[in-house]
Amino acid sequence: MATFRQIYKVINYSSSVRTLSTSTVRTGYNFELSDTQLEFQQLARKFAREEIAPVAAHYDKNGEYPIELVKRAWSLGLSNLHIPEHCGGVNETVFNGCLITEELAWACTGITLAVGSSELGQAPVIIAGNKEQQKKYLGRLIEEPLVAAYCTTEPGAGSDVNGIKTKAEKKGDEYILNGQKMWITNGGVANWYFVLARTNPDPKAPANKAFTGFIVERDFSGVQPGRKEEMMGQRASDTRGVTFEDVRIPKENVLLGEGQGFKIAMGCFDLTRPSVAANAVGIAQRALDEATKYSLERKTFGTVISNHQAVAFMLADMAVGVETARLAWMKSAWEVDNGKRNTYLASIAKCYGSEIANKCAADAVQVFGGAGFNKEYPVEKLMRDAKITQIYEGTTQIQKLVISRILLDKAKNA
Ligand SMILES: Cc1cc2nc3c(=O)[nH]c(=O)nc-3n(C[C@H](O)[C@H](O)[C@H](O)COP(=O)(O)OP(=O)(O)OC[C@H]3O[C@@H](n4cnc5c(N)ncnc54)[C@H](O)[C@@H]3O)c2cc1C
Repeated sequence: MATFRQIYKVINYSSSVRTLSTSTVRTGYNFELSDTQLEFQQLARKFAREEIAPVAAHYDKNGEYPIELVKRAWSLGLSNLHIPEHCGGVNETVFNGCLITEELAWACTGITLAVGSSELGQAPVIIAGNKEQQKKYLGRLIEEPLVAAYCTTEPGAGSDVNGIKTKAEKKGDEYILNGQKMWITNGGVANWYFVLARTNPDPKAPANKAFTGFIVERDFSGVQPGRKEEMMGQRASDTRGVTFEDVRIPKENVLLGEGQGFKIAMGCFDLTRPSVAANAVGIAQRALDEATKYSLERKTFGTVISNHQAVAFMLADMAVGVETARLAWMKSAWEVDNGKRNTYLASIAKCYGSEIANKCAADAVQVFGGAGFNKEYPVEKLMRDAKITQIYEGTTQIQKLVISRILLDKAKNA
């Protein structure tokens, strides 16, 4: 199988021309993927269907972290897509990353999260790290199949990031970090973490001055991951609490400067929410594919169930959702790749894609009837896996808060 890097080299396009989607522009909007993008998509599809799908049920059942698949994806170049070239990466577009994510997600979103969630941990270093920090920490992930993690959520604060209690106090050339993070993807397997901590003890300090973002190595003394949590879905992914007790962090590991952490932590979502949306579309597409196939095989009242209009219309509704949710992630990714502020569309894509994933998965279970409720068939897993897309990287309610705030501000200032 040609690796992502080989495809990338063969085409040899300039990294400054980041929007391959425009390479075949005829007139107006262009919805056609370029040849290179089709190759990326095929590589990811082949890996997903031949190597992930056959073992998805195993990892779902046992909740094991799929280390061999993480390494295989790394060797194919299907992870670490956005790492800059000066660190040895390919600095790929968000759009192309999403294209790959959707394909992998079709096979299993738990394994996709294990393969791709390091990119959330990397995002703060990509957007706010200096050259030395990037080279040291992102370069490491290119040299070896290691992963990073993003630690913002705590037992007492998730949506309300301003309420986090983990604190870092400056002592000489170091910061001393104390606190506990919760629900951290890659919590137990990460080589290093992005950690958001309060550095201004004044509870009245505004969020955009009160917090600092740090790079914390797993090997720093006092870093303690908790047990792997038993989750409803995406069970292959490694979700844990992580405790920090008197962890000494050199000042060189501060991102951007003291007080800049909130902005960095929130800014990452412009890059990563399109990917969560693409992940959700992968689930929705799989649900539609499985339901369509089953509807052409299962017979009731002397005919295949696809001949019952009630079933055919469920498939049609699923198709409407899949196609429109895909366009939503595509546009949000296209915006950020073209240097436009995409917060509004990234939240719309994430909010809508996750809703469609849940609806399609539930409808697929319905099309399967009793078999849909059984673990021997693929669709009940989709329903469990879909739920988390409405929770992590900002719940649906938080996406609606972001969307409504932006649209109301725009209306007020019009
Ligand atoms: C599997 C998994 C992986 C995760 N991975 C990571 C990770 O890698 N890194 C990380 O930092 N975090 C991670 N999280 C945490 C995740 O981002 C949070 O769970 C999520 O942001 C919600 O926070 P919470 O659980 O504290 O819920 P809460 O914030 O307590 O929310 C509870 C409910 O109240 C609603 N709500 C809260 N505030 C408002 C409001 N203002 N208006 C309307 N409704 C509101 C929410 O929508 C939700 O329905 C992960 C979580 C899970 C389950």
